Amino acid sequence: MIDKKGILFVLSGPSGVGKGTVRKALFEKATDLQYSISVTTRKPRVGEQDGVDYFFREKEEVEKMIKHGQLLEWAQYVNNYYGTPREYVEKTLQEGKDVFLEIEVQGALQVKENFSEGVFIFLFPPSLEELKNRIVTRGTETEELVKNRLLAAKEEIEMMEAYDYVVVNDEVDHAVEKIQAIVQSEHCKRERV
Ligand code: 5GP
Repeated sequence: MIDKKGILFVLSGPSGVGKGTVRKALFEKATDLQYSISVTTRKPRVGEQDGVDYFFREKEEVEKMIKHGQLLEWAQYVNNYYGTPREYVEKTLQEGKDVFLEIEVQGALQVKENFSEGVFIFLFPPSLEELKNRIVTRGTETEELVKNRLLAAKEEIEMMEAYDYVVVNDEVDHAVEKIQAIVQSEHCKRERV
């Protein structure tokens, strides 16, 4: 137990697979994981709060953060910026706490370049048909956004090979249990001296 640094867990996967729902269900259970709140230029959806769901920021501000290296990773996704504040992640890992990111695929691949010791989990839909249904029936997006999200999802699935684990999201509770098992297993791996 020499290594006191926390472990970085990255949950990613295609648009519409239910990453947000699974992450919320995971954090409703007692967990020692620290969730890293992302920055975005997307407008808040009904019920979303600044500093809880996201840090909602203007485009210029996020571009400044990118320029100054303040984001660990960032992506432009369906015409908005999304990014992970670097300082929070690095500080929390140094304190020996585990950090959990829920991000899209381009960003996860960037994290992998800098944190190869991170644990990368790909959330996979029960079927592609089901994924399409979820995106279409989400109801918060325009027709054009739905089309863009479907296109993005196809490309994202091709990136699955780069991940350490694949979790099929057939039922939210099952997916959460599997993620908890992964967290435990990664801790057991690191108990070796
Ligand atoms: P939504 O707009 O539905 O909240 O999120 C859209 C996508 O952005 C989701 O796939 C979500 O996982 C991803 N996302 C959220 N935060 C970040 C982030 O900090 N970086 C990256 N690369 N993607 C993010």
